[in-house]
Amino acid sequence: MTTARILDFIKSRRPEGPCLVVDLDVVRDNYAAFRHALPDSAIYYAVKANPAPEILSLLAGLGSSFDCASVAEIQMALDAGATADRISYGNTIKKERDVARAYALGIGLFAVDSHEEVEKIARAAPGARVFCRVLTDGEGAEWPLSRKFGCVPQMAVDVLVYAHQLGLESYGVSFHVGSQMTKVDAWDSALADAKRVFASLAKQGIHLQMVNMGGGFPTKYLRDIPSAEAYGLAITGALRKHFGNHIPKTIIEPGRGMVGNAGVIKAEVVLVSKKSDNDAHRWVFLDIGKFGGLAETMDEAIRYPIRTERDADEMEPCVLAGPTCDSADVLYEKNMYPLPVSLTIGDEVLIEGTGAYTTTYSAVAFNGFEPLKAYVI
Ligand code: PLP
Repeated sequence: MTTARILDFIKSRRPEGPCLVVDLDVVRDNYAAFRHALPDSAIYYAVKANPAPEILSLLAGLGSSFDCASVAEIQMALDAGATADRISYGNTIKKERDVARAYALGIGLFAVDSHEEVEKIARAAPGARVFCRVLTDGEGAEWPLSRKFGCVPQMAVDVLVYAHQLGLESYGVSFHVGSQMTKVDAWDSALADAKRVFASLAKQGIHLQMVNMGGGFPTKYLRDIPSAEAYGLAITGALRKHFGNHIPKTIIEPGRGMVGNAGVIKAEVVLVSKKSDNDAHRWVFLDIGKFGGLAETMDEAIRYPIRTERDADEMEPCVLAGPTCDSADVLYEKNMYPLPVSLTIGDEVLIEGTGAYTTTYSAVAFNGFEPLKAYVI
């Protein structure tokens, strides 16, 4: 969504080169919507979505906690004013020395999905709380996260028993239904699995306390999405269905849904050309591509809304590509992107819904193009 504030910033500051502009007011509204939709769940913002210090400080001030994937992210959350008890080390793949560093910084909550990871935590963070991530099928997610993270529920039981035996506090179960999850009922079967893990452990005298329901809340790209409230209702209903009157503490970890619609990338058309005189389609090359921050166009999974000043003109499908010398740097080709017939070299384009998973993907100056600049207003 290009807010008036973002538009004013671009028009008045005329920043050179491609850049992301994030409107903090939208982040504040998103936080309020999550707070309202799931009032009983603690919000752990997934720092990986956009770790801009201004965003972290705003959220820390609003009372958010933080899901961090590395010691560097933990440090960023601490620098933004979060206390260690509001930070979880949510990556299931950690070096033992990083577990030790996090523990030294006061972090006491860690994700696991294997016996081996439990052993690292027992050695490097004795007595810490652990939650075990279970697999989900990712069905309905436009950016699925299944297979790589989590284990089957029966193994989660074994992992948490093992954690208990090694002196850790077996604290809960986590899952992630997949990013950009457009089905509000996707949490239902994962919560059923979580409940089964709770019940099996209770029989062994281990009483879990928390379900981490992950991220997955979508941002609006081209298609409409259900409201935060609709997700809240579906999730609350599923919690009641599976846990009855004994709903445990719950956590959500929104990333994309917290910042995606708060950001717009300003970019420029570098070249409009064809591959032959009778080529039916034009190629439009921008000064930003997959390596400059738009990595989520991989497999054309995420389709960003793109606005130009010529949108009232006739449209035609184009191949849209980035500026680097890598032939993989094509954004949309299988499903070409409709752009104005009159679009020409030097035109400005606004790529909306780019507040999440853009700046962090452009860390390397591939081909000498600078990492994506960001302005937070
Ligand atoms: N939590 C964990 C553990 C994650 O790995 C991710 C994303 O990769 C998130 C939360 C945020 O997910 P989303 O951006 O879909 O809300």
